Amino acid sequence: MKGATQGATVTEPARQLPVVAEPDVLVVGGGPAGLAAACAAARAGASTLLVEAHGCLGGTLTLVTLGGFCGIHAVIDEQRLGRVVGGLCLELEDRLLACDALLPPRRHGRIVGVPYESASLKWVADDLAAAHGVQVLLHHAAVAVITDEQRVQAVIVESKGGRAAIRARVVVDCSGDADVAARAGAGFELGEAGQTQYGSTMFRLGGVDTLRAGALSRADIRDCLERAVADGHALPRTATGVHLNPLPGVVHLNVTKLGDPDGDPFNLVDPVALGDAEREGRRQVRLYEEVFRRYVPGFEQARVIDIGARVGVRETRLVHGDQVLTEAHVRAGIRPLDGIACSSWPLETHGRGRDTQWDFLPDGRCYGIPYGCLVVKGFDNLLVAGRNLSATHAAQASVRVAGPCMAMGEAAGTAAAASLSAGDDVRAVDVTALRATLQRHGAILDPEWAV
Ligand SMILES: Cc1cc2nc3c(=O)[nH]c(=O)nc-3n(C[C@H](O)[C@H](O)[C@H](O)COP(=O)(O)OP(=O)(O)OC[C@H]3O[C@@H](n4cnc5c(N)ncnc54)[C@H](O)[C@@H]3O)c2cc1C
Repeated sequence: MKGATQGATVTEPARQLPVVAEPDVLVVGGGPAGLAAACAAARAGASTLLVEAHGCLGGTLTLVTLGGFCGIHAVIDEQRLGRVVGGLCLELEDRLLACDALLPPRRHGRIVGVPYESASLKWVADDLAAAHGVQVLLHHAAVAVITDEQRVQAVIVESKGGRAAIRARVVVDCSGDADVAARAGAGFELGEAGQTQYGSTMFRLGGVDTLRAGALSRADIRDCLERAVADGHALPRTATGVHLNPLPGVVHLNVTKLGDPDGDPFNLVDPVALGDAEREGRRQVRLYEEVFRRYVPGFEQARVIDIGARVGVRETRLVHGDQVLTEAHVRAGIRPLDGIACSSWPLETHGRGRDTQWDFLPDGRCYGIPYGCLVVKGFDNLLVAGRNLSATHAAQASVRVAGPCMAMGEAAGTAAAASLSAGDDVRAVDVTALRATLQRHGAILDPEWAV
């Protein structure tokens, strides 16, 4: 960092920290995975604490202001969709529907999303956590971990009140960036050979003629944006859809692509790069507002009404688990006996160039996520769920969307609670019984439509 003496350090004095909570299960991170993990653990009877660094639950779904759940439905054929994710995800959808904040699944070719209103999701997530008896600490970031050989003894959190310790019997890391696992000393990969997917700043436009805009295909929008590029507008990406919002005249756009001055994706667990990415994202939002108004039908009067409170992160640390979800597993649609969640989402890669790569699985195909992808190598009482699971870069490109993240979270929370009667050892969990419990609560593990 500029202005610091090269190599200079200070010593932080050791100090006693108050133990502020001793739950059975501690879940770190309140995104789709963490919310589901905490609700599932509490539902199973474990005293459960969820700590979240920001001021609301929902993670990327609220903080980054997305507009649609992906990965909940699979395409079976030209007409039919099949559900891939049920359980707590379905409960969340029902609660959003009751607030008029959810639309029916929307299909763009072979991509299916369920539009939702992200502001409403903030209170719906509060309600969901409360309904299941989860204790929630907002504005608490997990910053350090105390371990004893194979066990996490305590997670240190930092808040406006300073530092404090939480001693839990089992910990589920749903921070998206594997902050707990990494600080505990677990191994991880940063994408593939240090290169991750590109992040994006998400934004909403109001004042859109959604009848005209909603009729545009991805190819139509691409043509408009490529014309802008030909006219000299330096757009980093021209591949996008228009995500209609339940609010009239409002759309979400997932169109920015955040590269550093060399054109590489920012390392979004490097705090300085993260700040640079935030500024670059806002610069691009301004550019896209201007271009959409000039080049895309239906957007003539559009204005940016909302920018995500933080940059959207697709991929950072991928933890080393007992098993690794691989591209071959995803493509072959393997549903293993220890599968605890399903996904059929394409391998969606935001890499170099103005395009997005969509690598679809054949219609009606889905794969199961093995329990071992949630079990952190070298630790007895630590699980992960969500986008920081144990997976290769290519497999994570398919499994990282909200639906499968919720399903993984639900499985991790249920497993964490089950491990309490098995010596707090997540490897001692009976996975057949875990699957049966998940299915009893509506999880989809063996969809009848799957080929
Ligand atoms: C730009 C973009 C667009 C996307 N579009 C879609 C889409 O349209 N539909 C879809 O389904 N998916 C989409 N995704 C993917 C999806 O939203 C995420 O991959 C998914 O939210 C991951 O869920 P998660 O719970 O694993 O992590 P996150 O959603 O990242 O949640 C992690 C949570 O942990 C908290 N946290 C992090 N570190 C700490 C810490 N140390 N202590 C305490 N709390 C912490 C964070 O504040 C956050 O709330 C998109 C992703 C991006 C980046």
